Amino acid sequence: MLSKVLEKSTCAKCKFCCSFRRCSLWETPLFPENTVEKLERHGSYQFDMNDDNGKYGRMHLQDSYNTDDENEEAPCFFLDPDKGCTLSYEDKPFDCKIWPLRIMKKDDEYVIALTPTCPSIGKEPSDELQKLVDDGLGDVIYDYAKTHPFIIKDYKEGFPVLMVRK
Ligand code: SF4
Repeated sequence: MLSKVLEKSTCAKCKFCCSFRRCSLWETPLFPENTVEKLERHGSYQFDMNDDNGKYGRMHLQDSYNTDDENEEAPCFFLDPDKGCTLSYEDKPFDCKIWPLRIMKKDDEYVIALTPTCPSIGKEPSDELQKLVDDGLGDVIYDYAKTHPFIIKDYKEGFPVLMVRK
């Protein structure tokens, strides 16, 4: 969805957003229930199911760390170190399709915000990224969040806002 501003090959080489420190577990992508069921049929993946703003699963990465080092990173179950993400477009979580964008709740508004840690996009949204959101991607994100409200995170200070709706 962001291919106009972020080359797939750049993401495949970087993989920054596909590994998680313990303090970043809140950022792991959320999988809709039907996708969890499908993935569990095809492999021994452990998900923690939640029913909080819709039913969804979160990868159980807690057992993937080998040390107590807070900075150790655990890779996503579906990350191949050479090929990148191994999931089909259909199964890839929406969170991953729009990252580094997020939909967040800020007071009584819903905002589309940029995660300022993506090494390729940078800390501030470019004009191209803003245009992409204004020209339709914003609508796609708000529409998805209506049927999958669990993807809405609490707003974090320092995340630049690209769109605001009530
Ligand atoms: S599902 Fe794919 S894109 Fe998303 S974090 Fe895992 S490897 Fe990365």
